[in-house]
Amino acid sequence: MISGDVAMTLREGRDGLALLDRNSPLRLLVIEDSSTDSHLVLALLRDQLPHALVDVEVSLDAALDLLAEHRFDLVLADLPEAQRAPVVRAVRNTRPETPLMVLTGRIDGALALWALAEGAQDLSVEGQQDQPGLATALVHALRRERAEEESLRYLELARGLLDAWDVPTCAVDCESRIVAVNRAWRDFVEDNDGTDELCGVGVSYLDTCDRAAADVQVVGAAEAALVAQGIRHVLDGSLDRFRHDYPCHSPSENRWFTVQVTPALVNDGRGAVITHVDVTDLHVLQVSFAHQSLHDPLTGLPNRALVEDRLGQAISDGDRSGLGVAVAHLDLFRYQGVNDRLGYRGGDAVLVQVAERLLAQLRPGATLARLAGDEFLVLWRDLDADHPDEAVAWSEELLGVLERPFDIADVSVHVSASVGVARHTCGHDVDQLLHAADAALIDAKTRGPGCVALFTEELLEERTYRMVLEAELRLALAEPITQLVLHYQPVVNLTSGKVVAVESLVRWQHPVRGLLGPDRFIPLAEAAGLVHLIGDWVLLQAIRDQASLTHEGRELDLAVNFSVQQLDEQTVTKLRRAIEAGDVRASRLILEVTESAFVKDEKTMTTTLEALSELGIRIAVDDFGTGYSSLLYLSRYPIDVLKIDCQFVAGIGKRQDDEAICASIISLAAAVGATSIGEGVETSEQYAVLRSLGCVQAQGFLWSPAVPIDELAAALAACDRIPVAAPPSRPSRTRQDLDSETAAFMARMHTEGGSSQTIDGALDRRTSRGIAGRLTPEEPPDGAPGSSRHG
Ligand code: C2E
Ligand code: CA
Ligand code: CA
Repeated sequence: MISGDVAMTLREGRDGLALLDRNSPLRLLVIEDSSTDSHLVLALLRDQLPHALVDVEVSLDAALDLLAEHRFDLVLADLPEAQRAPVVRAVRNTRPETPLMVLTGRIDGALALWALAEGAQDLSVEGQQDQPGLATALVHALRRERAEEESLRYLELARGLLDAWDVPTCAVDCESRIVAVNRAWRDFVEDNDGTDELCGVGVSYLDTCDRAAADVQVVGAAEAALVAQGIRHVLDGSLDRFRHDYPCHSPSENRWFTVQVTPALVNDGRGAVITHVDVTDLHVLQVSFAHQSLHDPLTGLPNRALVEDRLGQAISDGDRSGLGVAVAHLDLFRYQGVNDRLGYRGGDAVLVQVAERLLAQLRPGATLARLAGDEFLVLWRDLDADHPDEAVAWSEELLGVLERPFDIADVSVHVSASVGVARHTCGHDVDQLLHAADAALIDAKTRGPGCVALFTEELLEERTYRMVLEAELRLALAEPITQLVLHYQPVVNLTSGKVVAVESLVRWQHPVRGLLGPDRFIPLAEAAGLVHLIGDWVLLQAIRDQASLTHEGRELDLAVNFSVQQLDEQTVTKLRRAIEAGDVRASRLILEVTESAFVKDEKTMTTTLEALSELGIRIAVDDFGTGYSSLLYLSRYPIDVLKIDCQFVAGIGKRQDDEAICASIISLAAAVGATSIGEGVETSEQYAVLRSLGCVQAQGFLWSPAVPIDELAAALAACDRIPVAAPPSRPSRTRQDLDSETAAFMARMHTEGGSSQTIDGALDRRTSRGIAGRLTPEEPPDGAPGSSRHG
């Protein structure tokens, strides 16, 4: 017996023996017959494996006993030919797993085949047992055994890992028979009311799927068919991998799984590994992302992307069916003002309520979407081609539901909107249809809030015209500006009949189109962001002209129109510079702005208007009573003049309401200490009535239209020839009349958007100025507008 610790030797290694690495001594059994001479073998073993434990047995029985009792790493059989067969067989029967090596004296192919067929791992030729030869054979034999052991151990490890892996996993062979499953798989089968007969080892997975697919009563039959097809494709090699998400719903919960089939070598054939991963959480997230990406988070309505998609679908369906499609682009009117008053939270609340009301009014099948901010889109499909105007009527109904005030945190808010409608006629795609609705919306907006406009080809022409005009305006506004001119209209004091001021009104002397009025190009310039250029020029030109704005030796006041957009932080600086450069008294200047200016950002407006007022410049509200009907600004800002819009003046003697409104505005102006000016006076009756109502000043064709500066002197002289109006023959209003008219006017303002706080605020200002109760305005000494404040 050779003994010793083999570990060190093997690690230090010689002739490849280092490849074997183990911690217990190597144990070898040599079975030999006395007739064979195995001393060479033993010498070799001693030399090569000095630490190995070697047992040598000559008796087969004793060898087999030893073999049964102990575990050997290798058996070496060195026997005469006659004994070989029984020994090899006996060794194999006793220890099938132990490597066996047969030593032979000659190279014999038949023998080698026999020995290997009988289970010997190797054959070594005696006599040629040079050291490296036998050692290598030994190493090979031992390594093979190690490998098998390793793979068994590895298999155990893999099984452990698979069981620890909480994804239900099974392996199927090339015929889809389940050959292995992990613990999670067994749990999964159990949780889903499955049995081993359906999904256990040995069962054909495809059979189970096919049975489920064939039974229409089974929930998920279609899914089962799909999975079966996927498995078949993976097994036949036509698919590299199959993956599919499927629902697995129970009355108590909805779950989602991903089944994945990946090819794998199973039992020497193309089988597959099948996993079922629970992806419920992911699925819920995906669904919520998908919803978010297609819906507006504030109102929950479809967003632009979704409605455009539906519109595309509706158009292609409509082209096939011949049924109509229409869209309405709805834009809230002065929504920014709502935001300014209520803050963004309040503004959001209004939008939500608007969406709710519109939705409630929507006819079945229609889609309401929020495009952005305060813009909504309605889509109707399957419309009757014989009633092309239905969409317009429905849009009017939608506007109707916005008429009632909205209650937001105890504040009553009025909202109106404009709507542009476009009908789909063949050839229009999504973009074109939305553009058409846009063009119609612009048209609706120019007609004022609460209007619905239908897209027509003329509108398109109008749009093209506007685009051309805009390009021309840009050219005209390049320095030096030569195509703009200022005309001046006299303003008369109604008591004295004397001209006290002029209003500058800009015109565009177009080289081809002739003299264009401001209504043709100011809105365009505002939309194109060009109005600053016009405004700057107007201001400079008017100040340049002021020296000649005199009458009979008296300097006339100068009113200049200002766009809302012109009122910003720079306005004050610009005006101060212009006044200094032009050497003009600020108190001669009046800035006319429309009511829309007062819904602008309150802070900017307060600082701007206060600063202008400090300079001595007066502020006039142009077209009073036509626009934003909240009186809050009358108390908030320093306002010196209220100009009665010509539409009310035109109604004098024709419409009682208009006359009452004129009366109320005049009273209101007096109440807040402002000068009232009637606009567009054309008849002496209008003059007489306005005068009797206490209106301070007026302007209009009765005296003179706006004229170029070189015609102004003649126009002013002509004004003087207009006789001062006598009081009208009708009984003039009593103080009570005026009181009740003012109350009625305020009530009208109230219902149109003011809050009670608004009205009270306006009247508080009256008190603070110490003119409470003074309903009939006092004539300023020289009749200049607002001179009661800036005397
Ligand atoms: P507005 O300030 O209300 O000007 C009065 C408009 O009524 C002027 O029209 C004037 O010519 C017209 N008008 C005067 N008297 C009578 C009358 O007795 N009967 C009738 N039917 N109309 C009369 P215009 O010049 O076409 O100006 C229109 C608007 O354009 C102005 O309305 C004003 O808002 C704006 N605008 C004029 N010049 C400027 C400017 O320099 N800058 C800005 N931003 N806007 C301007
Ligand atoms: Ca004006
Ligand atoms: Ca006006």
